Amino acid sequence: MAMQEYETTIGLEIHVQLKTKSKMFCGSDNMSVDAKPNTNVCPVCMGFPGTLPVPNAQAIEWTILLGLALGAEIPEEFNFERKNYFYPDLPKAYQISSATNPPVIGGSLKVFAGGKEKEVHLHHIHLEEDAGKLVHDKSDNALVDLNRAGTPLVEIVTEPDMASAEEAKVFAQSLRSLIRHLGISDANMEQGNMRFDINVSIRKNGAKDLGTKVEVKNLNSFKMLERAIIFEEQRQKDLLEDGKKISQETRGWDDSKGKTLPQRSKEEANDYRYFPEPDISSISTREIVEKVKDQLPELPQEKAKRFEEEYGFDKRLAESLSDDVEMAEYFEKTLEHIEASAKDDYDKKKYAKRVANWMTTELIGKVNETGTEFSEIKVEPENMAELTVAIENGVISGKQAKDVFAEMFETGKSALGIIEEKGMKQITDTGAIEQIIQEVLDANLKVVEDYKAGKEKAFGFLIGQVMAKTKGQANPKAVNEVLREKLK
Ligand code: ADP
Ligand code: MG
Repeated sequence: MAMQEYETTIGLEIHVQLKTKSKMFCGSDNMSVDAKPNTNVCPVCMGFPGTLPVPNAQAIEWTILLGLALGAEIPEEFNFERKNYFYPDLPKAYQISSATNPPVIGGSLKVFAGGKEKEVHLHHIHLEEDAGKLVHDKSDNALVDLNRAGTPLVEIVTEPDMASAEEAKVFAQSLRSLIRHLGISDANMEQGNMRFDINVSIRKNGAKDLGTKVEVKNLNSFKMLERAIIFEEQRQKDLLEDGKKISQETRGWDDSKGKTLPQRSKEEANDYRYFPEPDISSISTREIVEKVKDQLPELPQEKAKRFEEEYGFDKRLAESLSDDVEMAEYFEKTLEHIEASAKDDYDKKKYAKRVANWMTTELIGKVNETGTEFSEIKVEPENMAELTVAIENGVISGKQAKDVFAEMFETGKSALGIIEEKGMKQITDTGAIEQIIQEVLDANLKVVEDYKAGKEKAFGFLIGQVMAKTKGQANPKAVNEVLREKLK
């Protein structure tokens, strides 16, 4: 049977760690992930009996902010509940969550995948606390670190709306971009700030009901998300082709083997015995919505549209610059510096294009090559502005600019400082250029005659001589003009 006889359905559950100062239900530090084990803890997040949880107002506001940004419904009230299970990293033996009556219902995000627009609907978003971590030492002892216990997590649950690994990946990337724009999480996947569970099923093309879903837990990169979906599609197809049934189960992803492996089946699924958290009354949202509504920043898709209009970018350039909030801010700051130093003839679209091109090629190239976080690059927007203007005014050539930029990237020094230091400044003074040209002409009378006899090649030779004499520092355009003039 041919592969395209099946269609794939994917739903995602995405955990995002909020970057509040303190944890979800206590005052312990939430921002020092790398602290020594069990130093960011207090009786509340260690689950001591008799302690009381106090909900973090900032975490609730940010969850609602995220809901508003996704066009979701915010119910008038939501409440926390206990999800009961035993695990060594969960000292209370229950997790406080809010999935049953969540703070955010529905909403959607439009993404552009595989050449077409796709609206991915959300089921709900809830707020909960994370568990601690189990660490296995060299002698294979399991150690408990409770630094992460009680840190605030939002869980975003989508409808089964995606039909390919590509769509799921693009959705996850757009969601990350949105979250970073809102400033509610760094959504740094290497640090586990953003993690994905995928639900994948396949069914015969056109079948009425969805197939049996398989869940794969704890993927923490876009690459893994994509690979795990593609692997599951194939595994499930192979089972059906062999006349076997797909069993509803939870699987894990083995990245080195590139495959999913069974963890637990539906029969072994937990019964969490949910009940409302008796120590926290239900939260009414009306005032929070009023407060948060005005904090909605410009969202990535709005930003991309504005970049197209304001700077005359094509869609692709606009999107690649607006997608990452830090990059977008960097770009606009650079332009502001250029505008501030410019004279009356400032051409915004022209400079915008220059800066955008430089950022999406040279700057991003260096960022990727060196594995630097964008927030940690040493080149300030002010320096980027200086470099752009220096190229534009012919102070240095485009080729020299790459060397200057490489050093800026490494040292954080200013563009003009480096140009000065390296003696790179181009000779644009026509008087000086004229003098050098005269010397070259005097020394090459035969070549001059060749040129006058119509040999265009001779012109190139003379240019070469001038450039050699100036060690490449003469402005090529000026040399060209002066030489033509002199040879007339
Ligand atoms: P459960 O009761 O097992 O938690 P839910 O209905 O709550 O299942 O859905 C959990 C996630 O699985 C959601 O993201 C949802 O979109 C997705 N999902 C549900 N059914 C399917 C299916 N048949 N195929 C793929 N994904 C699904
Ligand atoms: Mg569910």
